[in-house]
Amino acid sequence: VVEIRGLGKSFGTNRVLQGVDLEVRAGEVVTIIGPSGSGKTTLLRCINLLELYDEGSIRLDGVEVGYRASEGPGRVRRSERELAPIRAKTGMVFQMFYLFPHLTTLQNVMLGLVKVRKKPKAEARRIAEHWLGRVGLGHKLDSLPAQLSGGQQQRVGIARAVAMEPMLLLLDEITSALDPELVGEVLAVVHELADEGMTMLVVTHEMSFAREVSDRVVFMDGGRITAAGPPSKIFDRPESDRLRTFLARFD
Ligand code: ATP
Repeated sequence: VVEIRGLGKSFGTNRVLQGVDLEVRAGEVVTIIGPSGSGKTTLLRCINLLELYDEGSIRLDGVEVGYRASEGPGRVRRSERELAPIRAKTGMVFQMFYLFPHLTTLQNVMLGLVKVRKKPKAEARRIAEHWLGRVGLGHKLDSLPAQLSGGQQQRVGIARAVAMEPMLLLLDEITSALDPELVGEVLAVVHELADEGMTMLVVTHEMSFAREVSDRVVFMDGGRITAAGPPSKIFDRPESDRLRTFLARFD
């Protein structure tokens, strides 16, 4: 689904990503762990084209996402007009929920379906109701975000992303802003989606969740992927000191 090769990204002189290679295949759940500032969020933002990378390539379904030509210097950036349909192949859920405060739960989920996917209102409503039911919010369709708990708001965020049928779902520390007692209900929803075969790339600090849900785990450190493998390898037999030290913080 996504194929990342030699990805590099700098902010000024700060080299945030370097030589990142990563693939996620259809139906796979890959989690990214790593210390703060290691580039995890930036990697997701590059895939979703919220940031443009400087080096290497990101292909979604074989299509280079950021540039028209895929090789060499003098690459041509895609125009905003070209980016929109490519961006729509992925769905992203953020740490902060970014729901529209003046729209109800139902309207928040319907908006992209109507405006971006060009669905008729009745169909958009049916799809939105379906997904809100799936995340356990069928009884909150007419609530405003401010009337919901953080966990409920984040479940609306997930419903909004999956309703668009992305080929790849990007989850960026989606439980980090939640009170501890609300984390479980959000992770349970993600777990279910994973079990149903949704393709996901997940940045998380929830190590037990990463262990349970992932087909593969990658460890990012200083803008590089320095370890990758099945959860058993990463968590039970970490090979580097850096990874061992990182994991020890979560014991
Ligand atoms: P965290 O776990 O704290 O979210 P992270 O691994 O997701 O960390 P990033 O958010 O990707 O790390 O940040 C990587 C580096 O890029 C940091 O040094 C950060 O200061 C820098 N950075 C991120 N976004 C920008 C930006 N828009 N402008 C300048 N520097 C940035």
